[in-house]
Formats: sequence, structure tokens, C-alpha cells
Amino acid sequence: MQKIFEQYHIELSPKEIEKFEKFLTIFMETNAQINLSAIRERDAIIEKHFVDSLMLSALYDVEGKVADLGTGGWFPGIPLAIVNPEVEFTLIDSVAKKLKCVDSFIDELGLLNVETVIGRAEDIWQDADHRESYDLVVSRATAYFPTLLEYVLPLLKVGWVFAAYKLTDKEELTSTKKALKRLGWKIMKVKNYELAGQDRNIVFIEKIAPTHKKYPRKVWIPLKDPIV
Ligand code: SAH
Repeated sequence: MQKIFEQYHIELSPKEIEKFEKFLTIFMETNAQINLSAIRERDAIIEKHFVDSLMLSALYDVEGKVADLGTGGWFPGIPLAIVNPEVEFTLIDSVAKKLKCVDSFIDELGLLNVETVIGRAEDIWQDADHRESYDLVVSRATAYFPTLLEYVLPLLKVGWVFAAYKLTDKEELTSTKKALKRLGWKIMKVKNYELAGQDRNIVFIEKIAPTHKKYPRKVWIPLKDPIV
């Protein structure tokens, strides 16, 4: 495992490697039962899930209160939580069975900084615990980018950052820029990297103004009719 991390210049302590080994075992056992991911082979899980999740740490100071929206099989949330034990992570997903297992293994991994919230992004922002209360929202492979913006913007504090893990798709990025213009936001930077021969990006967006009352629209509307 360490060799794969080193290939990507990610240095972890022996304690962290031990946690990733335990996490790998739990992930593979759970994936066999409830199908969290199509990636099932050990080295591929390390590279495409663990390394990919940790790419953010090399690019940005992860601090404060962080939400992982659409955490699914717990990426990038759990790997980031392992290497940032002082940061509070909230893993959000609408599918209860994916989150239920996290509650049982965080003790085993000694992760005192992770909590889970079951719900849809379009609903949970109405709760004061979530509304404009996160310093960083991360999300990987959750939705079409303009849809995702509408999910994320009500959760972020003004002046703070959304880090979206995205594959390269020019049409999606153009639509995202249009949507951002409408919302009064802009892309701060796009960081490219290559992972297992695939071109990937983390797109950083700063929330520069409070969210307009009309967003997010009701459940399913951001998905069916994205802002563009
Ligand atoms: N981030 C993970 C999972 C991606 S699959 C990874 O990269 O491996 C997308 C996940 O987003 C699914 O688990 C789905 O339930 C969740 N999701 C999609 N739309 C959502 C919404 N509006 N609110 C909450 N969760 C959502």
C-alpha cells in the first residue's frame, strides 16, 4: 500500500497506513455485501479511491468544518478524515445503508472526527446545523456540475470553498461557468492530475456572496432542470 501512495508523493505515517489497511478490509467486506463501488481489486481501490481522495490534501489546507456531499462508499470523506484528525467531517448521503456502516467502523479506526447525516442536499440545508455552516464542502462523482452547485451552495459559509472532484469534460465546465456567473460565484482554480492513466481535476470555487433565497429549488428540480 505504501508504495502506491509513494508513487503519488503521498507520505503517510505508519499509524495512518495501519488505518488505511483496516479501512481497506472493511471497505472490501462491505462492498461485497452492499455494492458501494465497481472497483473491487485491492490495488485499484488504493489508487482510484484512497489516492484520489487524498489529492486534495496536497493542494489545499483542509481545516474547520468539512462536509462530503454524496459520500456514497465514503470517498473522499474517510481518507481525508484519516489524515486530518483535527478537522470535523460530516459525511452526507441520501442512501441510508451506505452510511449505516460508517457509524459501526469509525470506532474501530479510532476516527473521532466523523459524523454521518442521511438526507438529500435539497432538504438538509434547511436545518440550522447545516445551513451556511461549512468551511469546506467536498464532493466526488455526485452529480452534473451545475446541479451540484445548487446542492452545495446553501451549505457553505460565505468566503469559503467548494472543492469538486471532476473528470475532464469541456461541455460540463462551460455550463458550470455560466451557472456560476448567474449565481455570482467564480472558479478560483482548477488543479489537474493524472491517476491510473486518467485525467482528473479538482475544481475550487469560492462562495463570494450569500445564497439567494430561491436556491436550492425543491427536491429533484436541480437534477432535472440544472441552472445554466
Ligand atoms: N462520492 C462517492 C460516491 C459517488 S456516487 C465516490 O466518489 O465514490 C454518488 C452518491 O451521491 C450516491 O451515493 C448518491 O446517493 C449521492 N447523492 C446523489 N445526489 C444526492 C443528493 N441530492 N443528496 C444527497 N446525496 C446524493
